[in-house]
Amino acid sequence: MTYESSVMAVKMFEFSSKEELFSFNANIDCPYCTKPVTASQHHLSTHHLRCAIHYSENGIGKFSIPCFCPEERRGKRSHWHCTKCTKIIQRSSDFRLHLSNHGMVMTDKPQDGEETSMDNTYVSDTPEERPPCQKCDSLFATPPNFRQQSKQQNGKHEQPMLCVDAKNGIYVTPKDSEGTSILIHICKSLVAQSFLCELDSCREFMSMAAQSGNPGKECFHLERTKNARCYSPPPPLCNASLEEMAEKGILSKSRKDECMALVSRAFMEEVDCVFPVFWEENGPERFVYFSVFADQNEVWCTFGRTCVTLDTKFGKWHCQCPDANNAQYSCIHQHLCMWWVFQERPCWRQSATVNRMVEMEEIPAKIMKTDDIL
Ligand SMILES: [Zn+2]
Ligand SMILES: [Zn+2]
Ligand SMILES: [Zn+2]
Ligand SMILES: [Zn+2]
Ligand SMILES: [Zn+2]
Ligand SMILES: [Zn+2]
Repeated sequence: MTYESSVMAVKMFEFSSKEELFSFNANIDCPYCTKPVTASQHHLSTHHLRCAIHYSENGIGKFSIPCFCPEERRGKRSHWHCTKCTKIIQRSSDFRLHLSNHGMVMTDKPQDGEETSMDNTYVSDTPEERPPCQKCDSLFATPPNFRQQSKQQNGKHEQPMLCVDAKNGIYVTPKDSEGTSILIHICKSLVAQSFLCELDSCREFMSMAAQSGNPGKECFHLERTKNARCYSPPPPLCNASLEEMAEKGILSKSRKDECMALVSRAFMEEVDCVFPVFWEENGPERFVYFSVFADQNEVWCTFGRTCVTLDTKFGKWHCQCPDANNAQYSCIHQHLCMWWVFQERPCWRQSATVNRMVEMEEIPAKIMKTDDIL
């Protein structure tokens, strides 16, 4: 056995307890670091365990630690070695998603003094037999008893999933499990035999699974469509409210016509032009998301729809489309959502009065001026 391979043999990336991680021979150099540094308990705690990603696999608590090994090191950043396949992943949010795709359930870091193993109340995720949904004929949807369904087996909340277009099997869900991230679209349609996720990492995961002889493997999002909230039509947009907005100078005459044209194209396609998404587990939320018909098939609207976000605290809008990068004008999708807000949620016209810039992670900032909507 060469030196290299003997080092590799002891180099684990997944552990089920702190003790397992600390059971290293403390006299060796840390195998997860570039610079020679003794793999003391202190070093392992502060440099690796502290940033570990925790999850449960079949009810057993585990964690993976970040690695700084020179083979994959880029700059000062750490990376992650997947123990379920051989992939090396740079960003921790991508690694969480990747692990979810392998069937791991993300968990919080266990409290100090506790072991990482989860409680024993975990039961396996066997979906019950469900009748097709009355409203949308979707086999994957369940009645809207959502609060219960969103509970994960280990007591953590599963990310919600909502059907926004029953005809084409389009669903929306938060992009990742952390905080106020953007909405993504996925498509699961038996009719069209289409099982697709908007995220590149998921597509890659599924094609890797297909190549290794598992063609039916679904990404973590597609799998969760079985617990989706049913399609239920949102209040339709009325021309009268758009006229009122135009009279108030919120949008131009030509933009008003564009909005009406897009709404009628959506109508012909039998889909909703603006579909507001409220997760509302614990009352009103700061961020409201809209799935908006775009009538295009570009990278930014994979299934013909884009995602618009409204920060109700600061009245700030965001859209995925390239037009939204223009700091001076709102894109048509934002205007369509403003239409919906103007019509259905006059209270938010008030909340959009603070004219201040806040940083929203990964979302280019843009402010909607108070007078835009009042
Ligand atoms: Zn180290
Ligand atoms: Zn490494
Ligand atoms: Zn993997
Ligand atoms: Zn996915
Ligand atoms: Zn349904
Ligand atoms: Zn847009």
